[in-house]
Amino acid sequence: MSRYWSPIVHSLTPYIPGEQPKIDRLIKLNTNENPYGPSPRVLEAMKAEVGNTLRLYPDPNADSFKTAVARYYGVKPDQVFAGNGSDEVLAHAFLGLFQHREPLLFPDITYSFYPVYCKLYGVHYETVSLSDTFEIIPADYRRPNGGIIFPNPNAPTGIALPLAAIEGLLQHNTESVVTVDEAYVDFGSKSAIALVDRYPNLLVIQTLSKSRALAGLRVGFAVGHQKLIEALERVKNSFNSYPLDRLAIAGATAAMEDRVYFDKTRQMIMHTRGKLTEALSRMEFEVLPSAANFVFARHPARDAEALAAQLREEGIIVRHFKQDRIAQFLRITVGTDEESAILCRALHRILGHTA
Ligand code: PMP
Repeated sequence: MSRYWSPIVHSLTPYIPGEQPKIDRLIKLNTNENPYGPSPRVLEAMKAEVGNTLRLYPDPNADSFKTAVARYYGVKPDQVFAGNGSDEVLAHAFLGLFQHREPLLFPDITYSFYPVYCKLYGVHYETVSLSDTFEIIPADYRRPNGGIIFPNPNAPTGIALPLAAIEGLLQHNTESVVTVDEAYVDFGSKSAIALVDRYPNLLVIQTLSKSRALAGLRVGFAVGHQKLIEALERVKNSFNSYPLDRLAIAGATAAMEDRVYFDKTRQMIMHTRGKLTEALSRMEFEVLPSAANFVFARHPARDAEALAAQLREEGIIVRHFKQDRIAQFLRITVGTDEESAILCRALHRILGHTA
């Protein structure tokens, strides 16, 4: 607290990101990063950009990146918005599209940044409970609202909604913006971008942090009707005209263009996820059906927070949320096959099984 602070700062409850440890050699399965690293073409494109042109400002509209996204998804470049990580894209959506008289709706168990943005921008919200099996029930969102947002697949559960369920929601909700946060969509579920031309109130947000292994570059984007994109551009150009630097534009464009590397690495992650799910189930964990690059699992006899602490002693970090209904779950990022094997051996030891 300080008398120098603006009043709003006193009331903020900032988001707490997963730990980025300073120690090497830890097996880091806590922030859903991609174990394989970006495409070699991304690194080449970025290296080519390191030079004297860095004295010049980047393209404020990141046109080459927007064009690459538009081509990938078969939309027009003016239906694409680019931001410094999807967190920034989300922030602009909260300010530009959700500040209405009726409450914004999102699940009770979801990405914990949503209530933080609500506080920052004074967005009134209500949470909608997931089912007993941790699923989003679209019919529960059929009530007056100033917007709807949920991740698909949801985080931290990893459970995906089929596209038909999202379309059903859109058919009943035409008066406010429905935002689908597709941070994890490339690991086995279908993108709602296929629906943007039919529903002018649908905004889909994606990131290059997970399936394209560029969490360190900070690039995210949104796809939707031109009028929704215009709102985001108006907010962006009232905040920071250059959210993507020259290296980010070059790298992100190359990442969208290299489909072969993208497909290969996401297939590997999905394959490892299947094996990890089986191994955890054999150790009696209940593992929610994941369409993401992480699994959400609980053990019937072991306290999740204690398990996370024991894994840390073994040099493995996973994520635990001290939150109602999910306090006994661990969120474990899907790493390489080798990292998964090390994790499973450590869990065997901790659970007292013979490896
Ligand atoms: N949405 C969800 C559901 C996430 O889990 C994350 C990652 N923490 C983000 C958005 C933000 O990702 P980034 O800012 O790296 O694009």
